[in-house]
Amino acid sequence: MARARTSKVGADKAKPKNAAEDLAAESPWPNSSVGVADMPWLRAPWDRFLSMHRQNRLPHGLLVTGASGLGSLTLAREMAAYLLCADPVTTPGAERACGECASCRLRRAGTHPDIQLLVRDGANKDISVDDIRTLIESFSLTRYGPLRVALIEQAERMNRSAANGLLKLLEEPPPGSLFLMTSERADLLPSTIRSRIQRLAIAVPCRATLVDWLTLRYGLATEEAELLWFIGDDRLMDGSLPAWDWQSPTMAWVRLMTERDQVLPVVKQWQTMDRDVLARWLMRLWVEVMRMHSGLPTEAPASIQPFIQKLAGARSKSHWLKVHRVLLEFLQSARHPLNEELALDRLALDLVDPDLPARLA
Ligand SMILES: [Zn+2]
Repeated sequence: MARARTSKVGADKAKPKNAAEDLAAESPWPNSSVGVADMPWLRAPWDRFLSMHRQNRLPHGLLVTGASGLGSLTLAREMAAYLLCADPVTTPGAERACGECASCRLRRAGTHPDIQLLVRDGANKDISVDDIRTLIESFSLTRYGPLRVALIEQAERMNRSAANGLLKLLEEPPPGSLFLMTSERADLLPSTIRSRIQRLAIAVPCRATLVDWLTLRYGLATEEAELLWFIGDDRLMDGSLPAWDWQSPTMAWVRLMTERDQVLPVVKQWQTMDRDVLARWLMRLWVEVMRMHSGLPTEAPASIQPFIQKLAGARSKSHWLKVHRVLLEFLQSARHPLNEELALDRLALDLVDPDLPARLA
């Protein structure tokens, strides 16, 4: 018997993938993945969702917001699974989809006709108006069960016309429909959309919670877990250390601020890195330099502290205050690399410019 596959809107237009990627794309509900119960910081938004559901107050649109790596998609997936399940576990504190009923089986097989997925397929792929059109069409079809769910990962990927299309659907949602969205940057969503959806925010867990979690779950040494927490990398949740070498760009920055005539080698070193990662990293270090200049305790792990001390000691507080603007501009331009080398040259020259405080006064 032929079954309708869970639609993955826009997936058919994606570039050809290898077998492993295909498998990953076919399994949007990995059984072995880390779930809400495994991440203590998801408990509060999950409880709020359950409470809304119990009181029959679930809105048509829910937006899960949270920093990258905190499990927004995991939370949204489990909410969808729970709502679609025919016999969910409702024991207080252990609420979840049963995983066994017909609906759960369809979902796990990726063939549930009432789930529409707009999850990230490749790196930062935009959501087009065609993707939203397909979504709208699917919402006009007859439902299999009592509820149809659209799951939109990183809704800020919608371009303007896609957002306008979705807005029409949100303004007059078909009965029995739920739009679950996640976003790292809810401020990038049009206010017309934000005003029609309810927000569930994932608060950033405190350092101790995360470090404990990483050491227990992945057997990392405390020092490694603290480094991961400090870097705040996307891959936080799978316990893998950052794929880039944080030491070389940091040492290059120290050299730049403490020695003269070192701009070129520093620019060469920084060129080897993804600009967005570099910009975020320099900004993260800057926060610690300012803490030090303001007499606040540093949050940096012990292995990074000597670098912070050298950076802080190399320039005055007024200089470092102005560096913020230089780094911010670099961060904002990092996603539009027009002239990589020129931007890095400018950054390096600005960072060491003794007239920076006066120039940006
Ligand atoms: Zn079930």
